[in-house]
Amino acid sequence: MTSHQTLARLSERLLEDVHALYRTLRAAPEPSMQEHWTAALIQQRMEDLGYQAVLCGGTGVVAVLRNGAEPVVAFRADIDALPVQEETGLSYASSARGRLPDGTEVPVMHACGHDAHIACAVGAATLLAQQRDDWSGTVVFVFQPGEETSQGARVMVQDGLWDRTPAPQVIFGQHVWPGVAGTVEVSSGPAMAMADSWKVTVHGRGGHRSQPEDTVDPVVLGAHMVVRIQSVVSREVAAQQAAVVTVATFHAGLKENIIIPSTADFTVNVRTLDPDVRARASLPCAWQPTWRPRGRRDRSSRSSTASRCSPTTRRRLRGWSLRCREPSVRGTSPHAAPGDGQRYAGVLVLRRPRPGGRPRRRSRPVEPLPGIRAGAGVDPAHRSRRGLHCHHVSCRDPACQTQPVRF
Ligand SMILES: [Zn+2]
Repeated sequence: MTSHQTLARLSERLLEDVHALYRTLRAAPEPSMQEHWTAALIQQRMEDLGYQAVLCGGTGVVAVLRNGAEPVVAFRADIDALPVQEETGLSYASSARGRLPDGTEVPVMHACGHDAHIACAVGAATLLAQQRDDWSGTVVFVFQPGEETSQGARVMVQDGLWDRTPAPQVIFGQHVWPGVAGTVEVSSGPAMAMADSWKVTVHGRGGHRSQPEDTVDPVVLGAHMVVRIQSVVSREVAAQQAAVVTVATFHAGLKENIIIPSTADFTVNVRTLDPDVRARASLPCAWQPTWRPRGRRDRSSRSSTASRCSPTTRRRLRGWSLRCREPSVRGTSPHAAPGDGQRYAGVLVLRRPRPGGRPRRRSRPVEPLPGIRAGAGVDPAHRSRRGLHCHHVSCRDPACQTQPVRF
């Protein structure tokens, strides 16, 4: 029996254990950089398997298993959850609540599949621990907190991640994706887009709801800006290029029958693949309102004219640079997967990058290591078009139980 067949057979025996861990994690998600319970659970599981496991960067975990000096290979899984209300109806669905950094209480859900990532990583760690005769070298498992906020990788590196472990020659990661279950997506070169987030504050002049002519309504101004932003891609990005610009939140006022507020806030997320397009799509002038309300008093008032001339402030929340996959990593070349028989069965080679974005290269554990992150399909019939980060994300279908894919 080859080691590949052995791993496949053992993966069936491990399946229920992995699913049980998945359900446990699913029911108890924790927000980014607050994954204390999750980290303690992972550390305990890895120690039970014989790994040397320590906390790193507060709520990260790094676990090492030595089975020879070379090679040193690392695997990475992210562990944080999102402020999303779960609506899957699963018996083990999350009802957890947590707090954002500003103190706001929110529902929490593993809406990005990180519960599956942890369970799969622990499952892989179990296989490697049980089958030491089939391989030699050192494996390093990196359980990264705060992936959604791009904080976790940085704090792990700053906490001496690579000083605590043997330096890996290559690092692998995976992320669930609404692709066909049983397939893995890989690419060579650019794989995921740059992502920039902004918070825009529209400054108006508040007043009584019954006298709008005496106000500069930031809700109306902001609404026009949101509509204007929808034309950034269609009017300011060339047909040969690509961008996604999304306004995801809009907040203003407290109640419909009291006052017109003085400010309105909304957030914008810009995804691009080219630095020039990135700069163009993020130009402040593209987001200025092209219409403003003008009451009788506005036309003659110098103060209101001044307020119209500086209607917004914009604050950068975060920015993630282009993600590139390492072409030299075995099996990830676009020319390697097709025609290589069963060894690469189920591997899809992406010809175009995904518009998803993730932490910038210099702050990820992957950097400056050669590495690859594969997309693991979890949609049994390719039915879902919702993608990740929605209320219905889960990996509960047995068809998600993919066969091992070797690189
Ligand atoms: Zn994720």
